[in-house]
Amino acid sequence: CLRPVGPRPLSQAYLRRLASTLAILEQREGKLNMSSLASVSAGQKIGGPVHGILAGSNIKTVADEAAKVEGLEKIIFVENGDYDKGLPENWAPMLIENIKKGGYTHVLAGHSAFGKNLMPRVAALMDVQQVSDITDIQSEDTFVRPIYAGNAILTVQSEDSPKIVTVRGTAFPSGAAEGGSASVEEGVDPKAPCPTTWVSEDLAKSDRPELASAERVVSGGRGLKSKEEFERLIPPLADALGAAIGASRAAVDSGFADNSLQVGQTGKNVAPQLYLCAGISGAIQHLAGMKDSKVIAAINKDADAPIFQVADVGLVGDLFEKVPEMTEKLKSS
Ligand code: FAD
Repeated sequence: CLRPVGPRPLSQAYLRRLASTLAILEQREGKLNMSSLASVSAGQKIGGPVHGILAGSNIKTVADEAAKVEGLEKIIFVENGDYDKGLPENWAPMLIENIKKGGYTHVLAGHSAFGKNLMPRVAALMDVQQVSDITDIQSEDTFVRPIYAGNAILTVQSEDSPKIVTVRGTAFPSGAAEGGSASVEEGVDPKAPCPTTWVSEDLAKSDRPELASAERVVSGGRGLKSKEEFERLIPPLADALGAAIGASRAAVDSGFADNSLQVGQTGKNVAPQLYLCAGISGAIQHLAGMKDSKVIAAINKDADAPIFQVADVGLVGDLFEKVPEMTEKLKSS
């Protein structure tokens, strides 16, 4: 007996074979930013080949370094100092030329200051909707992202092509810096005029691990009472643990710590092995940036502080006693 055979839906495996991703890699002063490699792992999860792109001056050296990253098939580099400062006004047209040339189905960038600045412009110019701050990939068109400071999780499906996506760095592994052997190829440079002029930047310099990717973080809050006390107590504890320093927004707004150290909804997202905080109440906006930490340890004098609801280890006590005590014990151990 004969039966009509209609077009069969494409299988996930087939769609994955059609997918191809361009991952935007970040660098600063010739050093590849390892936390931007989360876009590579996310691209691998989508399936299909993953290429990386870099632009700036003397970028070939960084491209050669990036070629060793596991999971990348090709590195595209655009040698031009005009891209050094990451201005979206000239980066976006350059990127679009390279996206069109490569026929990519997905373009992924970190949900970093750079990615958040660049990708909306790319999406607008390509007339597609951006999918922001994804924490998981269900299929090549379906993504998971937190909303309301992480209090609700949204699953979104995008029919746009290409899919312009920013990736939460802490939700995907940053991949291995060694083991890959990608080809390195020069990309298209439209040399678009840039209406914005970069004037200057004031960067906080630190020898400590980078907050967003540190294995351990020690954070201080309003309970520290002053900048002097924050500086007296938090850095020695961080040093004893080899940790990065973080702060609550209240501590930043009160001038105890630099803005770049803020953890939370309007600060950085961190997911270290250990997040140790002192004098932080645990407001939802703070939890939004650190609740994915593997072990959360909190010191607070108030046994009912909300931070203890998420903490794996809690110490109820006066931080002005407990923090120096802990620092001394760690130093002598
Ligand atoms: P507090 O809430 O004042 O807590 C201080 C804690 O210290 C208290 O629990 C107290 O018991 C304890 N304490 C005091 N003295 C001692 C002592 N001697 N020993 C031990 N413990 C002591 N917040 C962020 O952190 N990050 C964000 O990104 C962020 N974004 C926000 C975005 C929006 C739109 C809004 C509205 C708010 C945002 N906030 C953010 C602010 C947030 O709501 C809280 O106000 C803030 O996190 C509180 O910081 P804190 O825990 O340091 O201060």
